Amino acid sequence: MPELPEVETVRRGLADALTGARIGQVRTNRRGLRYPFPARFASRLKGRRIDSIGRRAKYLLFFLDSGEVLLAHLGMSGSFRVVRGGSEAMAGRFRFPRSKAQTHDHVVIAAEGAKGGLFVIYNDPRRFGFMDLVAAGELERHPRIAGLGIEPLSDAFDGTALARLFAGRSTPLKSALLDQRLVAGIGNIYACEALWQARLAPQRNAGGLATASGKATTAAHRLAREIRDVLARAIAAGGSTLHDFRQADGEPGNFQSDFSVYGREGDPCPRCGGAIRRVAQSGRSTFHCPTCQR
Ligand SMILES: [Zn+2]
Repeated sequence: MPELPEVETVRRGLADALTGARIGQVRTNRRGLRYPFPARFASRLKGRRIDSIGRRAKYLLFFLDSGEVLLAHLGMSGSFRVVRGGSEAMAGRFRFPRSKAQTHDHVVIAAEGAKGGLFVIYNDPRRFGFMDLVAAGELERHPRIAGLGIEPLSDAFDGTALARLFAGRSTPLKSALLDQRLVAGIGNIYACEALWQARLAPQRNAGGLATASGKATTAAHRLAREIRDVLARAIAAGGSTLHDFRQADGEPGNFQSDFSVYGREGDPCPRCGGAIRRVAQSGRSTFHCPTCQR
């Protein structure tokens, strides 16, 4: 499953290629992905201009001049390739290489952009991804969007917001960070990394980020800051434009090289030298340093 920073690099790559582009023919090679495509999918896209490409959690949002939004999720193995002239490029950078096999090309969108004609191809071997069309005004009520918590890279996300969300909760801090209804899209890797950076034990009580009167503690402010920081650094490491395949496949460890605790059980903590431990929390692996995370 791609993490939020990976999806953001996809968004940036697609935005480079497609912002302002006019959609031409749309071909679907099957009836759907995880779910069937919406009714008249191709004809609702054809002729529309893509005004902007946004993101909510791990959902990509293509805002069309028809007033509809193309909602897309990469699932486990989805990717977009951009084909222009004789060259192909991957939108975004992934920790694990993506398929380019034509048998898994499920949607092919022709478009006319500022730099000429291009094709955008959605490939997804496991087909856990999905696409839907929704009126922009209905987006917040879409079943996949409606229950999502605060966006960790939005201006509204800070220590005060985090304390308000976690106040009174007796779940472990790490589990609360993975609860999509509270904060959307941090994911397991970056929850571990942010807690390590903030020197906070993952087993702490989530409610402890708020004082008895509901105010944010210094730990809450520190954690919110570190969450934004780890996500921003991961996005920067993934680059911001289209990647040719040599780059995309040759450096799958680009995100991973920055991890301080994730996947490093038994290694010395880069900060204090203590041994990094792995524990299970809510069915997920948590990597942490019991010596300096309190
Ligand atoms: Zn440590």
